[in-house]
Amino acid sequence: MYKRQDADLDRARELRSLLRDALARTGLDDTLPHRADAALRAFPVRMRLSATGHVELAPEDDGVPGALATLLTVAVRRGADGSWDRMRACAAPDCRWVFYDDSRNGAGRWCSMSSCGNRAKTTRYRARKAREVRIPE
Ligand SMILES: [Zn+2]
Repeated sequence: MYKRQDADLDRARELRSLLRDALARTGLDDTLPHRADAALRAFPVRMRLSATGHVELAPEDDGVPGALATLLTVAVRRGADGSWDRMRACAAPDCRWVFYDDSRNGAGRWCSMSSCGNRAKTTRYRARKAREVRIPE
């Protein structure tokens, strides 16, 4: 029982890391698509006809793998409607929370300006002040 839970947790963490890297747009290197292919194989989906007559993706498995596959089907739908392009991973290295960027210009970097954004601005301000050379009078 514990081994299954550990494997599920490992897969969930791997999927979270993968999605954050993809959303951060900074982890988009040559290895990411290969890493994604390997990770996504753990979440098989099939097509089915919904009760409303729409063709949709549905997870093959149940339990945790099925729940994670359901999350991926949401990502597929968001990619199709274009809203995925507004999903971001917070630029704060100690946060990386995933959020929907509803800023006017679509250049949001932090999950919250009042926490991560403010912290980053304060850090930059302090670094700039520390670099300033004080000229004695
Ligand atoms: Zn954040």
